[in-house]
Amino acid sequence: MTDLLLLPGDGIGPEVTAQVRRVAEALTPDLKLEERLFGGASYDAFGTPLADETLAAAKAARAVLMGAVGGPKWAGVPRDKRPEAGLLNLRAGMEVFANLRPALCFGPLADASSLKRELVEGLDFMIVRELTGGIYFGEPRFIEELPGGGKRAVDTQVYTTAEIERVARVAFELARGRRNKVASAEKSNVMDSGLLWREVVTDLHKREYADVELTHILADNAAMQIVKAPKQFDVLLTDNLFGDILSDAAAQLTGSLGMLPSAALGVAGKPGLYEPIHGSAPDIAGQGVANPLAAILSFEMALRWSLDRAAEADRLYAAVERALEKGARTRDLGGALTTVQMGDAVLAEL
Ligand code: ATP
Ligand code: MG
Repeated sequence: MTDLLLLPGDGIGPEVTAQVRRVAEALTPDLKLEERLFGGASYDAFGTPLADETLAAAKAARAVLMGAVGGPKWAGVPRDKRPEAGLLNLRAGMEVFANLRPALCFGPLADASSLKRELVEGLDFMIVRELTGGIYFGEPRFIEELPGGGKRAVDTQVYTTAEIERVARVAFELARGRRNKVASAEKSNVMDSGLLWREVVTDLHKREYADVELTHILADNAAMQIVKAPKQFDVLLTDNLFGDILSDAAAQLTGSLGMLPSAALGVAGKPGLYEPIHGSAPDIAGQGVANPLAAILSFEMALRWSLDRAAEADRLYAAVERALEKGARTRDLGGALTTVQMGDAVLAEL
């Protein structure tokens, strides 16, 4: 059985995942790795961004780690064959409904934040975003011409009790292993789906997670608090739309896009999907200068959440921290290390 399926993808994807492979071979040599084409690279080879065998391999692995997909080369490809369609189909096929986006700020990088050092130094909170429901998927959705001229556009936000409860459960479980706090963000003051969200989270908390400290926060206030006093958060639970916005805001607190990992989880026991939050960065692809830490930290999350290797995850996290403390910096962090040299710096600390 494959432990970790690597999907390097396009652009800088293969460059950063190559460093993950080196780290994995040094830290966890017994893990069984497998690698497959994905995204534009798969389209070029097989005429589809996600081959059936690749999806089957992803579902059969214990964890999947991807680099990034897409790029200008595939801009003219029909929508359903684009690299990004492959990613949506992979997420849907793996049924990963909870997106974990850490907002991390390593001390040595605190000056790169858009906030003052004291507000972000040591920042470590986790956004849990619902990923497969809500307004991006709700029906009906359409744009229609109005008889009197002009148009009307409709999107629909739909959430069921079951959808809210399963993602809330992920947030509560995570909090128990952290600082034991969940803040749940919605707009229950103006949206019925927000009201149901609050009701379901409150109810689950009462039934099963009364030991966790739960607060409810309106999503607009959450946005304000993220840029005002982000260290107050431990786990921030929210829906698909608000999570999209709040997690991009939080990413900006933490220095470079090249530092931030993510995980997407489904039901317990099924493989998780791990990926850096950055894209394929066509502007620097092929130059060997991309920061591999977002991909390496995505592997750290895979070790922790899918592969049952928390001790190795701790070692890897500490190695990244020490490499940064000693001044290892790729270009996005204001330094001159290449992708491979940043990999070397982490390996040296392992
Ligand atoms: P996508 O639509 O695929 O998410 P994007 O438009 O958000 O892509 P990215 O590909 O993430 O863009 O790149 C945004 C900017 O950040 C680019 O200038 C890119 O070079 C830079 N960047 C992204 N990832 C890294 C990285 N790992 N190391 C260094 N720079 C990066
Ligand atoms: Mg992007």
